[in-house]
Amino acid sequence: MDHVFWIGSVSWFWFVLTGLITAEEEVLMNTKLETSDLRWTIYPNTDPEWDEVTGLDEEGSSVRTFQICPLESVSSHWLRTSFIPRRGASQVYVEVRFTMMECSSMPNTYRTCKETFNLYLYQSDEDTATHTHPAWMENPYSKVDTVAADFLLRRGGERKSNVKTVRVGPLAKRGFYLSFQTQGACMALLAVRVFLKKCPPVTRAFSSFPETLPHSLVQQAGGVCVENSAPLSEAPPTMFCGEDGQWVGPPSSSCACGPGHEPADSDRCRACGSGQYKASVGGSVCRVCPDNSNTHSAGSSVCLCRAGFYRAASDLPDSACTKPPSAPRSIISQINDTVVTLEWAEPVDRGGRLDLSYSVECVCCRGPVCVACADSVTYRPGQVGVTGRRVIIRGLLPHTTYTFTVLSLSGVSAVSHTTPASSSVNITTSRDVAVPVSGVRRTKASESSVSLSWTVPSQNQHNIQEYQLRYSLKGQDDGWQYVSSKSSSVVLNDLARGSQYQVQVRARTVAGYGHFSTTATISTLPDEEESPSRLMLTGVLVAIGLLILIAVVIVAVFCFRRSNRTRDPDPDKSGQFLMGPGIKVYIDPFTYEDPNEAVREFAKEIDVSFVKIEEVIGAGEFGEVCRGRLRVPGRKESCVAIKTLKGGYTDKQRRDFLSEASIMGQFQHPNIIHLEGVITASCPVMILTEYMENGALDSFLRLNDGQFTGIQLVGMLRGIASGMKYLSEMSFVHRDLAARNILVNSNLVCKVSDFGLSRFLTENSSDPTYTSSLGGKIPIRWTAPEAIAFRKFTSASDVWSYGIVMWEVMSFGERPYWDMSNQDVINAIEQDYRLPAPPECPASLHQLMLDCWQKERSSRPRFCAIVSALDRLIRHPASLKITARIPDGLSHPLLDQRAPPLSLCSSVGEWLRAIKMERYESGFLQAGFTSIELISHICTEDLLRIGVTLAGHQKKILSSVQTLRIHSGSLRY
Ligand code: AMP
Repeated sequence: MDHVFWIGSVSWFWFVLTGLITAEEEVLMNTKLETSDLRWTIYPNTDPEWDEVTGLDEEGSSVRTFQICPLESVSSHWLRTSFIPRRGASQVYVEVRFTMMECSSMPNTYRTCKETFNLYLYQSDEDTATHTHPAWMENPYSKVDTVAADFLLRRGGERKSNVKTVRVGPLAKRGFYLSFQTQGACMALLAVRVFLKKCPPVTRAFSSFPETLPHSLVQQAGGVCVENSAPLSEAPPTMFCGEDGQWVGPPSSSCACGPGHEPADSDRCRACGSGQYKASVGGSVCRVCPDNSNTHSAGSSVCLCRAGFYRAASDLPDSACTKPPSAPRSIISQINDTVVTLEWAEPVDRGGRLDLSYSVECVCCRGPVCVACADSVTYRPGQVGVTGRRVIIRGLLPHTTYTFTVLSLSGVSAVSHTTPASSSVNITTSRDVAVPVSGVRRTKASESSVSLSWTVPSQNQHNIQEYQLRYSLKGQDDGWQYVSSKSSSVVLNDLARGSQYQVQVRARTVAGYGHFSTTATISTLPDEEESPSRLMLTGVLVAIGLLILIAVVIVAVFCFRRSNRTRDPDPDKSGQFLMGPGIKVYIDPFTYEDPNEAVREFAKEIDVSFVKIEEVIGAGEFGEVCRGRLRVPGRKESCVAIKTLKGGYTDKQRRDFLSEASIMGQFQHPNIIHLEGVITASCPVMILTEYMENGALDSFLRLNDGQFTGIQLVGMLRGIASGMKYLSEMSFVHRDLAARNILVNSNLVCKVSDFGLSRFLTENSSDPTYTSSLGGKIPIRWTAPEAIAFRKFTSASDVWSYGIVMWEVMSFGERPYWDMSNQDVINAIEQDYRLPAPPECPASLHQLMLDCWQKERSSRPRFCAIVSALDRLIRHPASLKITARIPDGLSHPLLDQRAPPLSLCSSVGEWLRAIKMERYESGFLQAGFTSIELISHICTEDLLRIGVTLAGHQKKILSSVQTLRIHSGSLRY
C-alpha cells in the first residue's frame, strides 16, 4: 500500500473574538481527499476484516472508507494508518467521521456486539511498521481513547454519522501511526483527518510575530517591530505560542512608533504630516512645529529653524527656534580715575531666549592708534559670560581714551555665525591720578646719608597712601633706585661720600601713582680728617645721644601705655586711619571717596550660585532677612542669614546698605556677628552673615521668660561685654547697643550685630524705637544723656547702653522704663533716677548697671573692666545668690517703676497681669486663691498645685508676694 500523505491547503480562519485569534490548522492526513487506495494495514487478515470500500460522503463525493461488521467474532480487529510525520508538532488532533450500528438492531447471534472502538498510537522515527511489527496489542501501542458513537444506525433508520476529534500527544518521535481497534463493533470509518494547530502570524503592540508551531507546551516566538516603529528596550520582543495554537499574553517587550511617526491604530504607525514632528520613539502623537520652525516633508523627527532663527547645541528638538539678542541699551559709564563702571539696560529683543549674557571688549586709543587693552586690565565679575548688567573695570591707564563695547550673547550666538549685537561707549580716564609732589629738599646730611623731605601736596580727591622716591647719581638716568615712604620724609643711606644725587618723588592714591616731581639735586657731605680730639668729642656726643635716646624710648613707651589706658575713643576720631604698633583700628567706610571701594576691601564677593535661600526670617531696614545655605566649593556647607536690599533702591540706599558689610567685615571676634560676604554683582544685593538660630536676644528672652539660671544670664552678658570690649579697642562706637541688636545662636552664644548706621541718619525710618533728635534718630531708652543732649557718642555712651542691655537680660526682655514716655525717661534720668534691679537680680549685677549709668561718663567702667567683673562673678557663683535689696518705699534715690506692689493691686488677675504671669490666673482661682489677702500666704507647694512648675516663674511670683509681706509687715518667718 502506498504511503500517501495529503496536506491540506493552508487556510486562514481569522476572527477576532474577545481578543483571541483562531489557531491555524495544518493538515497531516485527510482520507477524504484521497482518490486511490489508502492501503492501510489490517489485522487479522481473516474474515471478517476491515474492508476498504469506496463510498459517497454527505456532499455526494466519492471517498475511501473502511468498514467492519463481525456477526460472531469477539476478537480484536485492527486498522492501522500509514506513517504520519509529526512535522514538529508536540500534539496533533485526529478528527474521525464514522457510523456505528446499534447493537439491538443486530441479529441475536451477535451477543458480543459493541458500540465503541479504540484509538491507538504508535510513535516511530522511521516508517518501519509491517504486518507483524509492532505487535498488535496495547504496548507497544498506546491507547489514546475509546470512542463511542453519539448516533447509532438502525435498520431502516436515519443515516447519521458521528464526528469525534481526539487530541493525540505528546509526540516525540519523527512520526506516528494511528490504529483503530474494534472488538465487536459494526461500523464504518467514513473519514479521518489528522492535523496540528499553529499560532498564526500576529501583530501586537507594534510587534509582529511569524506563524509559530508549538513544539512544546508553550513556545517562545521572537518578533520584530512593525514598519516605522522601534523597540523601546534593547531586548527584541517575544511572545509565547500555546500548544493549542493560541498566542499567550502580550509581548515581553514592546515597540513604539519611531521618530517622525505616530500610532495610526493599535498596531500601525503613520508618518507625521508636514508642519508636524515627533522627536523620539514612543506612543505620543505628532506635534505642531515649535515657534519659528517648520517641516516640508512628512515623517519628520525635527522641525528645521526658519531663516534667521537657530537652536543652540543644548536646545531640545521641542524648543522653539530663537535668534541672537539685540544690542544692550543705554550704557552708562561711571569713571573714577582709572576705574570704570559700566551699566546697561537689557536688549529690546532677547531673541526669545533666557540664557542672555554679555561680554565686554576694551580697546585703548592713544592718538589715532587703537589696540586691544592690556592683560593688566581686570573686569569684575568678568569680561565674558557676564549675566548681570554691570561690570567694573580696573587697571586702566590715566589720561587714556578707551572704547568699551558690550556685546549681547545667548546660546545661539555661536551657531548663528553672525556678529553679536553690541553697543559701545568711549571713556577717557582722568588726567591726574595724584597731584605731583614739589619742594623736595635736604634736611640733614652726612658723608653717606641724607635726610630729605618734601611738601605734602594738597590732594583734592584722594588721600595719599604712600610716596615713592627714586634717586641716582647725577646724570645716571638708567640707575634709579626706588624707596617708599608713608610720610613726607625719608633717609637715604649708603650713599657715596661727597657725591651729587638726582632725586624725584611721586605720590600714590587709590587711583594710582601721580607724576614724579621735577628733579632735585642733593649731595652728601665731603670727607673730613679725623683728629683725636674730634674723635673723643664724637664719642662723648654719641654716648650722650644714646642716653637721650634710651630716655626718650622709655618716656615714649610709658606715655603710649598711659594713653592706651585712658584712651576714650571719640567718634570724631574713630573712622580715621590711625596707625600704631599692634593696634587694629576700625576704618569708617564713609571716609572712602568711593564707599564701594570699602566694600571690596572688607567684604568678600560671593558668587550668587553658591547661595540657596530657604525662608524669610525677618524684616531689616532695607529689605527681607532670610535664612539660607552657603556652599562655597571646597568648603563645608553652612547656614547663613541673608539680608537683602529690596528693589527700587537709590544709589545712596545701596551705599548705606552695604556700609554695614564694610563695617562688619573689619571685625573678627567670637562675640561679633561674622560676615560671610556680599553679593553685589547680581540683583538683589545681599549681605551674608553667620546664621544665629535663636534670633534676636530680646524676643528670645521674652520667649523663655524665667527659664535661665543666673549663671547662664551672666554668661550671655559676659559674651556681649567681650564683643563690646573688642569694638571699643578698635575705636568703634556702636551707638545702638540693645538686646534687639544682639543675636543668639543655638549654644546661647550672644553676638553683637546691627552695624548699619543709616537709621540714625534717615529721618524717614518708621521704627518708633528711634526718636528724631537734632541731627538724627536716637533710641532714647538705651542712650546715654550726653549722647541725647549733644550727640556725644563714645565707648562710654556704649557702656551706658550696655547697662540697659544688662537690665533687659536680667528682666527677661522687659521694656526698659516700661511704658513711660521718652520725655519722662529723659527727665527721670536727669533727676538721677535709675532703673531698679529686676526681680531676682543679683545685687552685684545691679550695682554694675548703676555704674554703667553714671552721669559723668569718665566715671563709667570700661568694657575691659566689665568683662573682668563678670568673670569674677562667674568664678564665684555664690555671689549671684545675693539679690538686690528691695527699696523701702519711694525713698530710694533711683527710679523704682517696676510692677506695682501686690498690696496696690485690687484683684488676683490684676496682680498676675502686672507681673506678666496672667497665664496662671484660672489656676490661682481654681485653687482657692481668690483674693490678695490669701495670696500673701502662698508657698512653693501651693504654686506646684496651681501648675506653676517653672522655677523662674515660681521665683517671680514668690518675690512679688515677699514684697507684699514686707510692705504689710506680715512676714511669717
Ligand atoms: P536686622 O536688619 O539686623 O535688624 O535683622 C532683622 C531681623 O532678622 C533680626 O531681628 C533677626 O530676627 C533676624 N536676623 C538678622 N540677622 C540674623 C542672623 N545672623 N541670624 C538669625 N537671624 C537674623
